[in-house]
Parts: sequence; structure tokens; C-alpha cells
Amino acid sequence: MRYNDANTYFKNRFGHKMYKAAISLDVTCPNRDGTKGVGGCAFCSAGGSGEFASDRKMTVTEQIDEAVRRLASKVPEDTGYIAYFQSFTGTYCDPMYLRKAFEQARSHPKVEALAIGTRPDCLPEDILQVLKETSSKIPLMVELGLQTSDDKTAESFGRGYETHEYIKAVRDLKAIGCEVITHVIFGLPGESKDQMMSSVRTAVDAGTDGIKFTCLYILKGTRYEKEWEEGRIEVLSMEEYFDIVEEALKILPSDVIVHRLTGDGPKSLLQDPMWTANKRNVINYINKRFS
Ligand code: SF4
Repeated sequence: MRYNDANTYFKNRFGHKMYKAAISLDVTCPNRDGTKGVGGCAFCSAGGSGEFASDRKMTVTEQIDEAVRRLASKVPEDTGYIAYFQSFTGTYCDPMYLRKAFEQARSHPKVEALAIGTRPDCLPEDILQVLKETSSKIPLMVELGLQTSDDKTAESFGRGYETHEYIKAVRDLKAIGCEVITHVIFGLPGESKDQMMSSVRTAVDAGTDGIKFTCLYILKGTRYEKEWEEGRIEVLSMEEYFDIVEEALKILPSDVIVHRLTGDGPKSLLQDPMWTANKRNVINYINKRFS
């Protein structure tokens, strides 16, 4: 099954392979600090999806340097880097702070693009202004955690915003020259395949440029861990998950870039499904099934 994969897209766009240098900013999330909720989304670990990022006490430049050093022996010399502001809600901060962080990343000699993960309800005017300025100087990808378009499911895991806010955010971001990547989770408790496909359609109709699929996985210390221990949540098998991915790829227009077919949670926290931890096995399976 053919799809527009991110590696090929980056190679065509930048002329070589691109790797991500994950960066931690000193930010939190409105779903954790009490503004929208406490404790975060039911699946989110204490690290706010930033377990692979560097130490937030380091400057942005130091974090990029460290990531480049770590990867240097494993990647071709002409590799380009995407400075990836990954953990928590990247735009949930003072605009001046974000501007400074972007400037540091942009001026790093190895960095050719920026990416930032955030929530649709954390894009006020002054932040959009910083994103607009930045995207006029360097390609800027904004990753939005939609997870599902079903507001009832979203409420059950405590997303803290409604789907219409996501649709508006995509429109606002595209209007200022950002590329939008949408995160969708398959296997959320109680969701049918139709609901999952509806999430994909919502992202496409909203105008997303790219998409990241993830299988719901259960991490230590999350609300879902408790429900999973009590037998109230079942996770998808590898075959079940990729059957859903295949359906999703069928409805995805060919110009939407697939940045991820599945995610892998931090091994130290992962409880279930354990197949997601066996990266080599998953890659082999994907290659056989989708190449
Ligand atoms: S919005 Fe993102 S960072 Fe915040 S709790 Fe949910 S998944 Fe975690």
C-alpha cells in the first residue's frame, strides 16, 4: 500500500535526510497546571510526551548540540536537523520566551526546519505572531494533538478542548504559513473503527498537511494505567492496529504526508501493548505490509 512518507518528503524538500533534535522548553500544559485540568490527559505520562528530549535546564543551542553529537556517528554527514520542541505544550508560554527559543534554534548551523508540539487552544494572537515571524524565515511545522474528533471520547480522557477549536487552529496556522501535522490515536477506549476514520477525515477536511498515527499505549503513572489494571481498557494487537492504519491510509489524500505509522512509548514506562516496544519487529512488519 503506497502512502506519502515523511522521509521521502523531507528528502525531496531539503535534498537529504532530516533527523529530529528533540528539545525541552520550560513549559507545562494547561491540562496539568489547573487551567484546564490537573494530571493531564489520561494517557499522558508525567514527562508530557517529551521522554526523548534533552534536559530543559540546558539552552536550546546546547540541547541541539547534544542531539547532533549523539547522532553524529549514526547518520550521513550531510544530514539536516529539525529542531523539535516536543514536550508538553510548546506554545504555552510567554511569546518573548518562545521567540528567543526559536531564534536560538534557527541560528544553529545544522538546523534547517523547526517543529513544535502544542494544543489548538494555546495559540493566542501574540503566539501566532511569533509563529508567523518564524515561519517567514524557516520552515515551521506545528503539531496538534487532536487524538480524536469525537468530543465525547475527548472528554472521557480529559483533552480539555473541543474539536471545533482544532479546526480553527489549523486554519489560523495555515494562514500564517505554518505546516500543520495532526496527531491521531487509534484504540482509544470505546472508539469504533468508524469513529477513528472520522478523526482522520476531520483532520483532512480541516486541511492538515501531515498526520501522525499512534496506537494507544498504557504508560506507568497515567490514569489509563489504573483503568487498564482494573481490566477496563484493552489495547490493540499489532494486526488489529495496522488493519486500522490501512483503512486510514485508504482515505488519506496522496498529498498528506504520513509522518508516523505508529509510535513507541518510553520502554521504562510502557505497560501495554508490548509489541510497540519491539521496534525492529514493528519496522519489519510495516515494511512487509506497506512497502
Ligand atoms: S495536552 Fe499533551 S502534554 Fe498536555 S496532558 Fe494532554 S497529551 Fe499531555
